[in-house]
Amino acid sequence: MSFEITKELTKNPKTKPDSSNLVFGKHFTDHMFIMDYETGKGWHSPRIVPYQPILLDPAAKVFHYGQTIFEGLKAFRKADGTVVTFRPNKNFERLNRSNERLSIPAIDEKLALEALRELLLIDQDWVPSEEGTSLYIRPFVIATESALGVNPSEKYMFMIIMSPVGSYYAEGINPVKIFVESKYVRAVRGGVGNAKTAGNYAASLKAQEEAHEQGYSQVLWLDGVHLKYIEEVGSMNIFFRIDGKVVTPALNGSILDGITRNSIIQLLKHWGWTVEERQISIDELVEAQKSDKLEEIFGTGTAAVISPVGEISYAGEKFTIRDGSTGELSAKLYDTLTGIQRGALEDPFGWVV
Ligand code: PMP
Repeated sequence: MSFEITKELTKNPKTKPDSSNLVFGKHFTDHMFIMDYETGKGWHSPRIVPYQPILLDPAAKVFHYGQTIFEGLKAFRKADGTVVTFRPNKNFERLNRSNERLSIPAIDEKLALEALRELLLIDQDWVPSEEGTSLYIRPFVIATESALGVNPSEKYMFMIIMSPVGSYYAEGINPVKIFVESKYVRAVRGGVGNAKTAGNYAASLKAQEEAHEQGYSQVLWLDGVHLKYIEEVGSMNIFFRIDGKVVTPALNGSILDGITRNSIIQLLKHWGWTVEERQISIDELVEAQKSDKLEEIFGTGTAAVISPVGEISYAGEKFTIRDGSTGELSAKLYDTLTGIQRGALEDPFGWVV
């Protein structure tokens, strides 16, 4: 399928950052993709242009009512030099589910994939090759109509920007300490927890800040109705290995349907593990820990892939998970998924594009 994506190439290519020392999301490639929407006209004028600031009216709805959504995925450089992405179709499907929840008009997923492919072709030299590095891709939509009425915008912009990023784990994968959050909640039943929308992240900063002050790197979110069932960890999905089985909270509308989560479940089942997607309460977790049945905890997400949990603080008590080191299943999942992403391992699921 072909789409008319116009291209204007930069006359002033930027100096690329040193790829042995990349800070997450600080540097952006030479080009970006933009497309506009207006009621009556639909999505139009898809184009690749030099990376540049955009001009918005101060009354643009995104600034006032947060009508915006985003995605996050990565491109990798394989050993043979080719550039690949990991399940990008899943990100654009989720982008449209977020759009739907935020009353933003759907985007043609094939066009979005084609736009990404062409942008990656143009900026392919920006994909770093060092172990653990990648090109982080951020598609997003903002409401641009200048009007203060609280109703869906009649104008939007869809953009894709890209940023070379370093290894998430400078010194190998390290377990993190997490704080069970029982004051703030991330999402509620019927809310926007399963949409990738800015407000969820703005509202999580306070809890994150307070956890940091106490020496924890992430918060464990409980459900917003009973403050009882485990939902997510920081901005990752969460998995528990309990008594030889793997348990992860079921998607209930307030949990983001993570693409890493989905891939991990498929991998574990492929290896013969029993994976239970169900409600799991904080009490069940504490009970499993006290009866020595809690074997591993790990978070999953695009940025870190797997993030093992070494310690949990809940209601004034601290629990060290096993001896606080990385569990063998966490390590095996990390090696396998990153191996598939970089083409070092076979890809039995056809995930690499
Ligand atoms: N939960 C939240 C709230 C997130 O922001 C993310 C990151 N997108 C995830 C889970 C993990 O999703 P994924 O595996 O698709 O990166």
